[in-house]
Amino acid sequence: MAIMLLRTTTDELVAALDGVAAGRVLVPSDPLYENALRLYTRSLRGRPDVVLQAASIDDVTLAVRTTASAGLPLSLRGGGHSGAGFAVADGGVMLDMSRLNRVRVDAGADRAHSEPGATWGDYDRATQRHGLASTGGVVSTTGVSGLTLGGGIGALRGLRGLSVDQLVRADVVLADGTLVTADEVRHPDLFWALRGGGGNFGVAVRLEFALYPVRRMVTGLLGWPLERASEVVGAFRRVADDLPDHIVCELVFTAPEGVPSILMTPRVIGTDSEPLLGPMRATGPTLDTVTEQSYVNGQRFMDPMAEWGMRHYWNTCTLRHIDDEVIATIARHSAGAPSPSSAIIVEHLHGAVSRLPAHATAVGFRHAPYNVFVEAKWTDQADDGVNRAWARQVVEALRPHSAGGAYVNYLPFDASSTDIAEAYGESNFARLRRVKSRYDPANLFRGNQNIPPM
Ligand SMILES: Cc1cc2nc3c(=O)[nH]c(=O)nc-3n(C[C@H](O)[C@H](O)[C@H](O)COP(=O)(O)OP(=O)(O)OC[C@H]3O[C@@H](n4cnc5c(N)ncnc54)[C@H](O)[C@@H]3O)c2cc1C
Repeated sequence: MAIMLLRTTTDELVAALDGVAAGRVLVPSDPLYENALRLYTRSLRGRPDVVLQAASIDDVTLAVRTTASAGLPLSLRGGGHSGAGFAVADGGVMLDMSRLNRVRVDAGADRAHSEPGATWGDYDRATQRHGLASTGGVVSTTGVSGLTLGGGIGALRGLRGLSVDQLVRADVVLADGTLVTADEVRHPDLFWALRGGGGNFGVAVRLEFALYPVRRMVTGLLGWPLERASEVVGAFRRVADDLPDHIVCELVFTAPEGVPSILMTPRVIGTDSEPLLGPMRATGPTLDTVTEQSYVNGQRFMDPMAEWGMRHYWNTCTLRHIDDEVIATIARHSAGAPSPSSAIIVEHLHGAVSRLPAHATAVGFRHAPYNVFVEAKWTDQADDGVNRAWARQVVEALRPHSAGGAYVNYLPFDASSTDIAEAYGESNFARLRRVKSRYDPANLFRGNQNIPPM
């Protein structure tokens, strides 16, 4: 039953939640409140009146019903990795689901059932006990649900596609507080929209994934001085179109310890790495940490590079190609980055990602051979302006080479409605809006890259 609140004060909000919720209810005067707001990014744009640390699905329903009936903002915190800071509402309720982090594996059926606060570390550890995996993020502290609902680019993408391509079912608490199961048969339109539409349609309280056998991988870093970018990318280009599905990689333009560099992160599922490592090692990298290792270790070797508590501004675009002009543009902007911690990451997309038709899921970038993630990262609030401007300039400079579409999880907090529409493409966006109108007509779930109801 909905809890009716007219003009809701924080006290009334607390009264509606405290003692009713199984989880902890935190207000700004609580010593644990600030801790709950410590997330990947420190670039937060508001503070919630209340944090509800959900201890059950009933707590999720309670938060949804309470905020919906009071007309208050509601934000969802899964792994807390949104660079746009979407996990934190300005006023209203921040629903922190990080304690709901169990992953149950049904090895006989090759299925994993993930709770909303599970991270990829939780997920990979649970599934690897059975020698199984599905496409997940490349840093172990990223949330399974936030990453998946936006699309999900990971090491298994060449073989198995995006994370959404292995999603087979989702239990979702809708804006009216009802719990539904969405799959190809039940609520098929909702299921389609969840696969790329982000947190726009409800709270996913259980995600079920198909799993595949995976044991070992070959990964690590190759590195060269930035001046060699053209030669290095030239070597990659010669093999890129023929790479087998089990090999993917990213090119990273950044300045580790202040030294402008181009890095490559090969991610080879299994041990046959020669098609990529042969030609890349032949160029004589000055850094080479690439080794064969367990899948779990390979999925967390980048964790030390993803420290929490810095300031961020993200931006993104796709690319049709990475010719010399594109690489010169990226190298020039990388060398001119106001912060040495910032990076321009080019993700190679091929294999299973691009074999699915563009409209099979809501994701709007699967046709692109390359995806660019611009991560501006710095420490001092006084430098917000210059770092944000830099990330915008990188994308503007690359726009003439765009393949169209974009990955919504990498868009900035202030992406325009046009940016979001273009990210999905015209027909996917129109369909998403129809689904939104049906499942969240009052736009309760708006603290995200928002898809407005019609
Ligand atoms: C260090 C780092 C590494 C990354 N690596 C990758 C990568 O390898 N591949 C990739 O594709 N992306 C990657 N990302 C981007 C990532 O996909 C997004 O940041 C994503 O939003 C993280 O999800 P989260 O649950 O951790 O985020 P949160 O900040 O907890 O949530 C962000 C938003 O996701 C939505 N959401 C979260 N949980 C739910 C839920 N249960 N139901 C409904 N909506 C929900 C909500 O709108 C929420 O506000 C990375 C990000 C970081 C910071």
